Amino acid sequence: MFGLERSMKQKLAQFKQLAQAVRLVWQSAPGWTVVTIIVVIVQGLLPALSLYLTKMVVDTLAQLFAQPAGAREFGALLGLLPLVLAVFVVGRICSILSTVAKEAQSTAVTNHVQCILQDRAIQVDYQCYEDPTFHNTMLMAHGEAMTRPTRIVYNLTQSAGSALSLVAVTGVLLVSHAYLVPIVILAALPGTVARILNSRALHAWRIKHMQEERYSGYLNTLLTTASFAKEVRVFGHGRILQQQCRRIRDRLRKSQMGVTRKRVTRETAADALSYVLAGGGVAIFLVRMKTGTATITMGDLALLFQAFQKAKGALTGWLSSLTSLYEDALFIRHYYDFMALPQRIGSPPEPKPLPSPMRSGIRVEGITFRYPGTQNNVLSDVSLSISPGEHVALVGQNGSGKTTLAKLMCRLYDPDDGRITIDGTDIRDVAIEELRSSMGVLFQDYARYFMTAGENIRIGDNAIPAGDARIRESARLAGADTVIADLPQGYDTMLGRLFEGGVELSVGQWQRIALARSLVRDAEFVLLDEHTSALDPKAEHEVLHQLFDSVKSKTVMIISHRLSTVTLVDRIIMLAHGRVVEQGSHDELMRSGGQYAELFSMQAEPGPQGLRDES
Ligand code: ADP
Repeated sequence: MFGLERSMKQKLAQFKQLAQAVRLVWQSAPGWTVVTIIVVIVQGLLPALSLYLTKMVVDTLAQLFAQPAGAREFGALLGLLPLVLAVFVVGRICSILSTVAKEAQSTAVTNHVQCILQDRAIQVDYQCYEDPTFHNTMLMAHGEAMTRPTRIVYNLTQSAGSALSLVAVTGVLLVSHAYLVPIVILAALPGTVARILNSRALHAWRIKHMQEERYSGYLNTLLTTASFAKEVRVFGHGRILQQQCRRIRDRLRKSQMGVTRKRVTRETAADALSYVLAGGGVAIFLVRMKTGTATITMGDLALLFQAFQKAKGALTGWLSSLTSLYEDALFIRHYYDFMALPQRIGSPPEPKPLPSPMRSGIRVEGITFRYPGTQNNVLSDVSLSISPGEHVALVGQNGSGKTTLAKLMCRLYDPDDGRITIDGTDIRDVAIEELRSSMGVLFQDYARYFMTAGENIRIGDNAIPAGDARIRESARLAGADTVIADLPQGYDTMLGRLFEGGVELSVGQWQRIALARSLVRDAEFVLLDEHTSALDPKAEHEVLHQLFDSVKSKTVMIISHRLSTVTLVDRIIMLAHGRVVEQGSHDELMRSGGQYAELFSMQAEPGPQGLRDES
């Protein structure tokens, strides 16, 4: 009972999704959709018209041949010719229009749907990108959403057109030879069943092999992307990765061939059955002719054969469009699954304003957090506070949870327990855009944009116009101005070697550009994760002094292991295994001789500086 109810609900949902897909096409290309509908209606009526004309032409010809040669009257035949020509011309125009409309519609839909998918990709929770099933869904959604909606409209219009033809042609058949109608219907059924089974098998195959397909795509990216090209050469693992990719592709190909073989077998069996049934129909007709049960003219004969053919074609076409719609409904589901991904991290319905300027500061209150899908807490009952204008450094060994805390402050995740407040307001009660625009953030794994140097900095704050003075100012603070001054077109130089005229920077130079991007917005709170790790000592010294000068009035949290950085801040907070273990100034902590002193005394020692560049 429940199973039946669930299956009904699923069918209803599929039906709704088809309707939504039609709306999507309508929104993308309303004009071309109207053209498609008109064309389909005309194309639906043409077969019955051409049938009737064929009968008239054949009957007229038969009458002509019955007249003595030399006294034949061609008037009636000539009178029919313009009609035959008109049907032919209209048919051709319709088929051209249908091709053009289909192409224009599909391009419009692809662009429209791509925008919608990009919108969703920007909005989904960041943690989705760490979930393999999300990537499966996204790939299926991208693959299907570009083409399916147009196909759905095409199949819907085709099914309407075929149904129209079917009604018209069956009408003709019913009047003349009604006994052929059930045979036509029976002959079309095996093909339909075969197509439904094939669609299901294909869909199940795609789902089952999605992970493998993505992995082979990933291997291909490793072999063809600039960021991996260096290691591929130095480690010489290109061939191994290529073989691995090849093996997966071969396995997929073989398995897909199995699906294709089954598909062809089903289709052939269905065709054979359908021809046997059609043959039966012809046999009945011939028997009726022989026994004289039916009296027919030559025109009737031509009409009958064509009607039988056309009715079978229209019914097959109609059922085939319906089974295609069934397949579309199976596949378009992934697009809606992607669109329906729950968004947990967002703005509340009635966001509270973020006080500006900050008065009492930022408080982390008893935060406990574990990454979704993992077993251990990364942060356990972490509490700390940062006063307005205070400069704090977060230190600790690798994996102690520093970057995780920074990510929680930006609301890339929400804590499982505890809260983070700004001036007493829980950051979950603030509009997320407002929260994020109040921060200047630099992550360890900052992005490198293959855009101009100016754009690389400007995209740190969407509100500022190109060429704004703040771009140069933040470049100066980050020590990126000297890098940019050496570029051939200064701020207009394209960075990276992916596009024409692009210039590649060193790691340290890229980091300065990324730091400038974090500083370009007029943020009250600056959060920097290993912001100088790639700079040489001289650059680091310059950048740090300029930076601390410029952010004097701002609240700053820096994650760093550098002695040069931690001695410049007001307070150091040490994390170990996801807990705050020590707090104080550098001197205080060194004096107390705890974990911090142990960590940093190694840096002061000559020899390998194991902790210098760790994070
Ligand atoms: P730190 O910045 O102090 O080096 P992190 O905060 O980056 O440490 O990482 C803390 C712990 O969380 C590590 O054990 C790491 O393996 C784990 N971790 C980090 N990022 C993720 C993630 N996206 N998913 C699951 N575990 C993660």
